[in-house]
This record gives sequence, C-alpha cells and structure tokens, in this order.
Amino acid sequence: MNKLLSAQPEQEKLLYKLVIQFLIFCQGSNALLEPHLLQVGKRLKAGSSMGELTPELQAMSKTLLHISKQAAQNPSQTNIALNYDHMLQCIDGLLEKADVPRSFQQKKVALQQRIKTNTDEQSFNMVIDTAVTLLLDIRDQALSEQNSIDEFLLDMSSQLGQIEQHAEHVGESTRLSMGHRQQLNAEINLQVDNIKDSTHQVQELATLKSMTSDHLDRLMQQLIEHKTSEDERQKQAEQQIALMTEKLQALETETESLRTKLKIENDRALRDVLTGLPNRLAYKDRMELEAKRWNRYRKPLTLVIWDIDHFKRINDKYGHKAGDKTLALVGQLLQKNIRETDFVARYGGEEFVMLMPNTQASQALKMADNIRNLIESSGFNYNAVAINLTLSCGICEFAGDDLHDDVFIRADSALYQAKQSGRNRCGIYNPG
Ligand code: GH3
Ligand code: MG
Ligand code: MG
Repeated sequence: MNKLLSAQPEQEKLLYKLVIQFLIFCQGSNALLEPHLLQVGKRLKAGSSMGELTPELQAMSKTLLHISKQAAQNPSQTNIALNYDHMLQCIDGLLEKADVPRSFQQKKVALQQRIKTNTDEQSFNMVIDTAVTLLLDIRDQALSEQNSIDEFLLDMSSQLGQIEQHAEHVGESTRLSMGHRQQLNAEINLQVDNIKDSTHQVQELATLKSMTSDHLDRLMQQLIEHKTSEDERQKQAEQQIALMTEKLQALETETESLRTKLKIENDRALRDVLTGLPNRLAYKDRMELEAKRWNRYRKPLTLVIWDIDHFKRINDKYGHKAGDKTLALVGQLLQKNIRETDFVARYGGEEFVMLMPNTQASQALKMADNIRNLIESSGFNYNAVAINLTLSCGICEFAGDDLHDDVFIRADSALYQAKQSGRNRCGIYNPG
C-alpha cells in the first residue's frame, strides 16, 4: 500500500480532493493548461501517489504562473467563470469515461443522477465531495486488490511448485516411460502457461481466482489420470515379471535336473561299471586329445597296453566272480599308481590301456615294471585262497608321423612279445 496514504490518510485524501476539484474547475478555461490537466487526470486514474504527481503538478504550477502574468497584462483574454452547470457536466463526463469496478457502479449511477437533477452551488460541493470519495475508494480498493492478487499469485506459485514436485514424485515412483513423462510435463507446462496468461489478462481477483482454480483442477485431474494409468501399468508389469520369474525358475530347475541327468548318463557312457575306470570310449576321446597335443608340441607321449596273464585260468579255477574281483582290483591298482596327468582305462576283457604324456618309452617301462611288481606282490586272494596274479604290458612311444592306430599296433605287438617271452613282464616295442 502507498506509504503516504497509510501514514496520513486524511491529509492525503484532502490533497487528492483539492487536485481533483482544481482539475474540474480549470477544465476548458485555458488551452495552455489542457495538456497538464490531461496528464494529471491520467496519473490519478492510474492510482499514482501524491509524490508521483509532484513533477506534473510543479509543471502545471509554472504554466499557471505564466497564464496569470498574461492575464495581468491583458485582462480581457481570461475566461475563467464559475459555471456550476458546466463543471457538473465535466464531472459527469469524467465519471462516464472512468473505468469504475462493478462494486462501485451503483454509487456512480447515483452520483450521475444527482448531477442531472441538481445544478446549484450547494449540490456542486456535495457532488464534488462524493466524487472524490468515490474515486479514492476505488483507488484504495484497487491497491488492496493488487495486494490480494500478489498474495494469491505467491500462494499459487507455491501450490504449482508442490504440484510439480508431486508430478516428479509420481514420475519417479511409477517409473514413467520417457514418452509419458514428456507428455505429462508438456501438459503441466501448458496449464501453468495458461495460468500465467490469465494473471496478465484478468484484472479482477474473483475472475482470476475462478480461472486459476479451473486450470488447477484440470492439472490435478491430469495428474490423477496419469497416476492411475501408471499404477495400472506398473501392476501389470509386476504381474508379468512375477510370471516370467516363476517360469524362469521352473525352466532353471528343469535345466539343472536335465544337466545332472545328462552328466550322469555321460559319465555312465564313459565309465566301466565293473572297475569304475574310464572305458574304451573315454580312452578314444582322451587319446585323440593327447595325440593332437603331441602333434603340436612334440613332447614325448607313450602308450602302454596291459593284459592279465592267464586270466582264463582264474575264471576257470575260481569262478567268474573271482575273475570280476580280479579285474576290479587290477583296475584300482593301476589307477592308484599312475601320475595325475596319466590316464588309464579298461580297454575290454582283461586288457587295460595307459596314456603317459611327457614320458619317454624308457621312463614308462620303469613305471610299468614298478606297477607290475606291485600287483604281483599284492597278495591277492579270493575266499582266503591266494591267487597268483601277474600282468604283462607292451610299451610304445609316439614318433614321426605316427597316428594312434600305428602306435597301438606296435604296443600290442610288444605285449605279444612280452607274453611270448614268458609273461609277467613289460617290453618296449622293438622292430627287430
Ligand atoms: P593270456 O595270458 O595269453 O592273456 O591268457 P588269457 O587267459 O588271459 O587270455 P584269453 O584271451 O585266453 O582269456 C581271456 C579271458 O578273459 C576270456 C574271458 O572269458 C575272460 N573275460 C573277459 N572279460 C571278462 C569279464 O568281464 N569278467 C570275467 N570274469 N572274465 C572275463
Ligand atoms: Mg587278453
Ligand atoms: Mg590275458
């Protein structure tokens, strides 16, 4: 609110009254005064304070001095006359043109009525009083209206801030897709722009409040619709994720059991049931791998073929079960006495094969003899009956362009030689 008005309202009111009376009084009296009257009138309508009016009033005062000097020099040219009727018509004209708010319309019409019916001096004074009071009341209301609008706009801006935060929260919590968020933001911005436009265009607080309230309602409605649809979307997404997780878990369990089953079957397919050793198929795989490695790095690789001596006799003398037990024991002893990097498999019947990487034939012979001695002296018995258990083996090292079959044939040949030489012996293939 204007400081002058709040500090000394009565004096200020009186000054306004004087200025307005003066304006009406001087209207049409002198052409030099007209621009000043117009300017001061405009400022009064715009609600300027006395302080703001000062420069204009000072300029008018100078012009008045100038006019009075002229009048002194040439008295016949002054045309100031007290014509109440004319002055009241001026007030009526001013009131007609004035932008009077709806709440003051009744007072304005009553005043205009009074002007039309009474044109004497007494009425003139009363009309002037009422007109000034009316104009000042309008000005006061305009000021307080402005304050209310400022307060309202402040409150509204904080409300919009909250709504924007809410929208942000809604956006985050419901994990809006980029497209939806952009759409929502655009809608919010549009409503906020509409509200801003309204504040610029609308003069009256009531109209502004109702327009703004409409915009806010639409904004809230849009937010609620968005939240509802996003809640629904998220609910559906969560249900789908739960369903998918369930399906995935079932699939995982199924895959796991299938993997275990396959592993068991694969192990079974590669393992000999009687001895627990890798079987001929497993030997074939390993042999391929070791032959490739040998071919590439050319590190010594030796094959040993073992055969139980006179196994048929064991079967025949002690029974097939004793024969099986013999096979199982031999398998265990062979497996136990090789290096971790070596490989042993039951090739078939009472024959076993050994692959020794990084081992020359001579080294393999030493190891084989050790194993042979160990088995011979194992004290094997069946139902407390000691059984004479010996093995023979043929040894052959990979060389030149050897393929597996070449080496196997030579090792088998060495085994044959060992058997021929009286059994319970190991021999390296000797072409001679
Ligand atoms: P050599 O010293 O010349 O090798 O004589 P051998 O008796 O060991 O050789 P031969 O090939 O004559 O006999 C092998 C026997 O092995 C014949 C077969 O019945 C027996 N045999 C093969 N597989 C099994 C098996 O799984 N269990 C049992 N108990 N005997 C088997
Ligand atoms: Mg045999
Ligand atoms: Mg045999």
